[in-house]
Amino acid sequence: MMEEVPPTLNKEEVIPTTLPVYPVENGSCASTISQLKKSSLQARIPIERFSLEHGRIENPKPLPLDLLSRTRALLKPTGRTGPREARGAVMSHHFHAIIHSPFLPVAFAPGADAPSLGVSVASPSRRAVRLPRARASVEKREQTMEEQGGAAALGWAARDATGVLSPYNFSRRVPRDDDVTIKVLYCGICHTDLHVIKNYWGSAMYPVVPGHEIVGVVTGVGGGVTRFKPGDTVGVGYFVGSCRSCDSCGKGNENYCAGVVLTSNGVDRAHGGAATKGGFSDVIVVSEHYVLRVPDGLPLDRTAPLLCAGVTVYSPMVRHGLNAPGKHLGVVGLGGLGHVAVKFGKAFGMKVTVISTSPSKRQEAVEHLGADEFLVSRDAEQMKAATGTMDGIIDTVSAWHPIAPLLALLKPLGQMVVVGVPNKPLELPVYAIVPGGKGVAGNSVGSVGDCQAMLEFAGKHGIGAEVEVIKMDYVNTAMERLEKNDVRYRFVIDVAGSLGSAT
Ligand code: NAP
Ligand code: ZN
Repeated sequence: MMEEVPPTLNKEEVIPTTLPVYPVENGSCASTISQLKKSSLQARIPIERFSLEHGRIENPKPLPLDLLSRTRALLKPTGRTGPREARGAVMSHHFHAIIHSPFLPVAFAPGADAPSLGVSVASPSRRAVRLPRARASVEKREQTMEEQGGAAALGWAARDATGVLSPYNFSRRVPRDDDVTIKVLYCGICHTDLHVIKNYWGSAMYPVVPGHEIVGVVTGVGGGVTRFKPGDTVGVGYFVGSCRSCDSCGKGNENYCAGVVLTSNGVDRAHGGAATKGGFSDVIVVSEHYVLRVPDGLPLDRTAPLLCAGVTVYSPMVRHGLNAPGKHLGVVGLGGLGHVAVKFGKAFGMKVTVISTSPSKRQEAVEHLGADEFLVSRDAEQMKAATGTMDGIIDTVSAWHPIAPLLALLKPLGQMVVVGVPNKPLELPVYAIVPGGKGVAGNSVGSVGDCQAMLEFAGKHGIGAEVEVIKMDYVNTAMERLEKNDVRYRFVIDVAGSLGSAT
């Protein structure tokens, strides 16, 4: 059964104060709230005020996000049978909150100034989740956008948590002064796209047009655009906007701006609050501040995955000093992210060891990707022999896995950077880090500057992803194969060759 609660919650983030609860039937709100009161006391969740009149739980203090999953658990059904259940659906309550997180910028809120998405927290299976409020509200915003008369776009979208993608017509926004209009040539398929279209993180705002590893050609620029002109080859990565005034933006860390706008399934408040539509589409309109220049000479299909996979591993390697010749880097998970981490590590002059669950990847890792060593993580002997040998580890694994055995591979004061985002929380036993003074950090993609620097580095060293180029009509099969770890090492959609030409 799939995991219901997205576990990837950043403890430093907060959710605002109001969690509206909708009754399953007339009069049941009181019982819901009384149940919540009791459970919140037991779970020590600081919900401080309950208001029966409005069917809301009001919490004057921000609620740390690590409590969110426990709060959600409280919102499970009380066993009452409501009209929705009688109709066969299993939804009992809706839960709304605004969550600010660069990686999971879920915007669940019925408030006036925030986009709205209802999330059922009561279903036993994700496939039973219904999002009627969200659907209505997103569709309404799309209509508004269409009325603005932006370019017609053809994409492929998932409509529900089955994640099945199918053709979808929509409109891009009317370009502004600083906007660049891009014909999409290639778009990589990141495991994040899979997590999102199947709503494993509970963040999907259907219809979801995935895709954030985009390479394309500029077809038009606004009057204020200074860095690009029609004909330029450009890239677009994981995000297409940020507030540009906060501390993070000021320091060039737009990827950590609370207002970051994801390229796909993001909320673009500056443009009417519509859910953003990604690169599984023929055209995209992006402010020039978030557009990357693709260096000459890089093959475009192999460059597309660098826009997310590449920068996600390059950026923390540089930040944590895991780019120094002679240092020993461990790369956990030889997938889309992992295989480019190996390439960057070798280009930095490091010793690189792959730590994998797939013995069948050994030969390719060593002979083709240039890894120095290959450990099978399920082989206790191999792992033991490598204890205390690594300066740093980049963990790219997309599924739950034990991390204590990985931390044992680090030297004292070694650094692990987690970039994979499994659906279930990882366990961090303190004995694995305290005695050796080891660090565990997270990383969300990289800034615009990091991404441009990564592309220049890739251009200089001839680094590209290993790709299987597909047409758009293969995308559902590709997603199934990606879920089964059956890709070497990135699917890239030949978008222009599949959807025709947008001008
Ligand atoms: P991917 O191509 O599917 O690679 C993931 C790799 O993880 C697999 O190739 C496999 O490598 C390993 N793996 C899979 N299941 C496993 C399991 N049960 N136990 C241990 N290892 C397992 O995915 P990707 O596109 O590289 O993305 C990886 C993760 O990073 C995803 O969760 C994605 O959402 C996340 N991500 C994060 C960021 C960020 O900014 N932090 C950016 C992009 C993606 P082996 O066969 O070698 O074991
Ligand atoms: Zn990605």
